[in-house]
Amino acid sequence: MLRGMSQTDRPALSVVAPCFDEEGVLPEFIRRVASVLDGIGGTAEIVLVDDGSRDGTWNTICREAQGDPRIVGVRLMRNHGHQLALTAGLTVCRGERILIIDADLQDPPELLPAMIALMDQGADVVYGQRRAREGESLFKRASASAFYRLIGRLTDVDIPADTGDFRLVTRRVLDVLLAMPERHRFIRGMVAWIGGRQVPLLYDRKARAAGETKYPLSKMIRFAADAITAFSVVPLMASMTIGWVMAAVGFAFFVYSIVGFVLGHTMPGWTSLMAAIGLLGGMQFLMLGIIGAYLGRLFEQSKGRPLFTIREIVGGRGGEPK
Ligand code: UDP
Ligand code: MG
Repeated sequence: MLRGMSQTDRPALSVVAPCFDEEGVLPEFIRRVASVLDGIGGTAEIVLVDDGSRDGTWNTICREAQGDPRIVGVRLMRNHGHQLALTAGLTVCRGERILIIDADLQDPPELLPAMIALMDQGADVVYGQRRAREGESLFKRASASAFYRLIGRLTDVDIPADTGDFRLVTRRVLDVLLAMPERHRFIRGMVAWIGGRQVPLLYDRKARAAGETKYPLSKMIRFAADAITAFSVVPLMASMTIGWVMAAVGFAFFVYSIVGFVLGHTMPGWTSLMAAIGLLGGMQFLMLGIIGAYLGRLFEQSKGRPLFTIREIVGGRGGEPK
């Protein structure tokens, strides 16, 4: 086991938060999480992953870890992105129950007791479902909603709408999650795939406490592409459907030109020919692109590289006195 702990030394709770350039919110985040944990009682750890931050995030984590033995700081060698940084934290954490939360206080840690209560009633996963999203632009809300609808239609797994990764999971669920070797991770979908009793807890998502979103449009699009390719092969099959439609249209044109030939009209034809070439060419490149998107991910997966690289781990003196 990590750091020489045995299985029975597990804290009752782990709180895992990935942090990228979050020095502005971290002290407040830690203060609020710590006071929630104090209220709950029992053993706990707070695992903070520094995802290659460029600001003073790591120094803040180290400083805070000096004052609170529950804090474990994990420093990655470079920025790996939210989902992989989170995976690093989930790999390091040892709790019986694990709370996944963003460090920017958009998800209130004060919901933890309510989540624990639902888990005590037999839930395997309690996920936060957003009722309102404060301080997010109309575009972010509209694109997020379109994304959840699209993924809902494309995948077989029931991925609940308007959820992030904010959730409490059991050790059993986490162990299954960690056994899934995907490089392009869409963790909320992977947790949904695992199954068990998954229960929502409605909440209002706050605006960021400080700093700005690390998910610009380009990253959101990449994330959406990862989610779709990881959970659905429908886009790959789309070429089949389009092929059938094209074949039907082509056949209709063939009949039309034979009839025209028999009746003695010659075809003017240039415009329709150019249109057909453009359309077919476009479709073929689109389909090649879709195949490429899957092939690229298959290639990256086949390399079997580690998902993240850890530089150092500090703190986590566990039961030792402060
Ligand atoms: N984050 C990270 N690595 C990154 C980008 C983000 O660890 O490359 C963390 C970030 O510090 C935050 C969480 O992931 O705790 C969610 O990011 P953010 O709040 O920017 O996303 P949004 O809430 O706007 O979707
Ligand atoms: Mg955020």
